Amino acid sequence: MAARDEDRGTNGDGWVHCAQGHRHWGRFGAAGLLVTADDRVLLAHRVFWSHHGGTWGIPGGARDSAETARDTALREAGEETGLEAAVVVVTDETVDDHGGWSYTTVHGGLTVPPPDLEPTDGEATELRWVPLGEVDALDLHPGFAGFWHGPHAPVH
Ligand SMILES: [Zn+2]
Repeated sequence: MAARDEDRGTNGDGWVHCAQGHRHWGRFGAAGLLVTADDRVLLAHRVFWSHHGGTWGIPGGARDSAETARDTALREAGEETGLEAAVVVVTDETVDDHGGWSYTTVHGGLTVPPPDLEPTDGEATELRWVPLGEVDALDLHPGFAGFWHGPHAPVH
């Protein structure tokens, strides 16, 4: 039944236009997990057919209406990378509000050494623990690049 959509974490799927004139994925906004460990950050190389395909960014996706940003970030990271939410310690959240759409970056660390991860849902072609100083050398997703060059990045 339709009422069960909210249990699957999918009722936020859809495009919206924000007040800044962009088109974004996620009717209730989106969230991603910025997880760092041993001075590395977990990044995903997105498949070419996806939005901004071929670029690197953090795991994440559309928020469900019933989810907190933290829940979304941990769920999406689990779906895309297999990273278990139980080993993630959330330390902060920063919100980029465009008006009518927002992206929440959920910051976290790990209780274990960075595990070897392989893409698990077809949205990424490669996962990598990228040294913080080498992130800028990659072709970054424009949204993530904005975050990385902003005041909330874990470097600078
Ligand atoms: Zn926007």
